[in-house]
Amino acid sequence: MIRFALHGGAGELHADADTREQRAVLRRVGEQALAALRKGASALEVVEAAVVAMEDCPLFNAGTGATLTADGVPELDAAIMDGSDRRCGALTGVSRLANPVRVARRMLEHGPHVFMSGAGAERYAESQGFTLIDPQTLIIAERERQLAAAKRTGSILLDHDTKLEGLEGTPPPDAASTDSAAFGTVGAVARDANGRLAAATSTGGLTNKLPGRIGDSPVPGAGTYADNRSVAISCTGTGESFIRACFGHTVHAQVLYASRPLADACAQTLADLGTLHGRGGCIAIDRDGHVVTPFNSTAMFRAWAGADGRLYVAVGDDDAD
Ligand code: ASP
Repeated sequence: MIRFALHGGAGELHADADTREQRAVLRRVGEQALAALRKGASALEVVEAAVVAMEDCPLFNAGTGATLTADGVPELDAAIMDGSDRRCGALTGVSRLANPVRVARRMLEHGPHVFMSGAGAERYAESQGFTLIDPQTLIIAERERQLAAAKRTGSILLDHDTKLEGLEGTPPPDAASTDSAAFGTVGAVARDANGRLAAATSTGGLTNKLPGRIGDSPVPGAGTYADNRSVAISCTGTGESFIRACFGHTVHAQVLYASRPLADACAQTLADLGTLHGRGGCIAIDRDGHVVTPFNSTAMFRAWAGADGRLYVAVGDDDAD
């Protein structure tokens, strides 16, 4: 029983926002992932490949086209986790890697560490044969425009922001309470034919974030988690609140220890996130093959294949095709 889900971030979109390009990418990447799973690829291979494809797409906030810190550079976060043995690799604050999730996978396979940051993580990547790039090559004009707008309003912004004008600025440190609007992180979860679960997430984080800020995406148990006994989950949204809610691990624990259905576990954790003024959502698959994609923002870019084997793509609540 193969299952797959992919997200390209959540946010507050204008109803008339044109999302056709993003939907086409979600469909292409989703179909590739399903084809690989049908051919026997492992859940781990599939989530890595899907996230690499999304990192390479400038429409999403990861790898090329990632958001910029207040200093005008991308600082990327990524994690990948194998539900079979809970090995994981995670890195944060890297600017010189085109595909941080690939390096996270290398850490998962070869260690010696689970979580690395900044220059040390880049040196590790280089020692493993990855090419270090000029951070400028990751920057696209749209992110520079978003950063300039965020600085004008004194805001720390989530990506996919089409409601920038008129926003109230929210200063650090509590970016989670920002009333601004859009995300764009990418993530994938899969269940392969052997019942193995895996999850991966990659992001540039928030526009105009303070240099050194770490979101939930690379934090195992917050933005990314996988355990074959329970769930694979990847989150997107206001990272500070997802960390405070231990989102991924809380869903896992409800499924594993309280035998709660996946949809209920996610709904309850999302409700708790709301009490922290957190916004966003997650994609999740459980050991029995249930697939859910809940969110409390107005939109979450996503694609999923459940029991009928068909790939659905959606952005809003009710626009799956
Ligand atoms: N969760 C990410 C972060 O806080 C942002 C996002 O999902 O767009 O870094």
